[in-house]
Amino acid sequence: MGLPRSSLLLLALLATVSSAGAAEVMSRSEWGARKPVLAMEKQTPRRITVHHTATRGKHGFSIVKKMTSLQAFSQARSKLADGRTKEAWADIPYHFYIAVDGKIAEGRPIGFVGDTNTKYDPTGHVTIVVEGNFEKETPTAEELAALKDLIRDLSRQYGIPADRIGTHKDFAQTACPGKNLEGEVRRIAAELAANR
Ligand SMILES: [Zn+2]
Repeated sequence: MGLPRSSLLLLALLATVSSAGAAEVMSRSEWGARKPVLAMEKQTPRRITVHHTATRGKHGFSIVKKMTSLQAFSQARSKLADGRTKEAWADIPYHFYIAVDGKIAEGRPIGFVGDTNTKYDPTGHVTIVVEGNFEKETPTAEELAALKDLIRDLSRQYGIPADRIGTHKDFAQTACPGKNLEGEVRRIAAELAANR
């Protein structure tokens, strides 16, 4: 004897919900973050903006190592890849980091404004950086899956609509997040809009 039609429907619904897994984010305490070294401005999350690291993805290194070295770079006066020097920032400039293996870590706490090397006001932006130079490489399948889950979760949690999901390029003169990631972000936003 089969299950009643209503139970089958319920099972089908449950399967749909669980297949869209929530993004798993490694917290600051889990990767051993140090405290911010300067004061930070508070913010309310209003949009999601995607970046790339602009350096080639590094396979075979743990996300803990990546986060601790990114924090050390961020909190010091450091030389940028293009030869300019940046002053010390309070903390990692981005709120989330997605590594080549699809692991996600928390960067700057989401309630504080991020930092940037370009001329735009990042207030209200939840910034996600994806590891790689997507002018030259293509994002890994793991990165894209993680990005999609994270964007969906953030959009739901903070009530951010699809038309406020974008990339660094929308706000500043930059190639960031690279031509091979740009379209993927548009696709994720369009899919979210369609499934609302
Ligand atoms: Zn950027």
